[in-house]
Amino acid sequence: MLVHIDQEKCCGAGSCVLAAPEVFDQRDEDGIVVLLDAEPPADSHQAVRDAAAVCPAAAIRLEQA
Ligand code: SF4
Repeated sequence: MLVHIDQEKCCGAGSCVLAAPEVFDQRDEDGIVVLLDAEPPADSHQAVRDAAAVCPAAAIRLEQA
């Protein structure tokens, strides 16, 4: 799985960080998403799918590698 984020779309809601804190973080200054792991291990995939599903800005795109 490859994870892509769009910082232009992100509104800093932080839902992705709550769902998958090992993969997503937020910038201190404005809360915009930061990708920590673009190719997360299999045991994180469900959490990453949950994060993409709850993102209110559709800023997370997943690609099956
Ligand atoms: S859930 Fe979406 S809008 Fe919220 S911080 Fe994460 S990427 Fe940004």
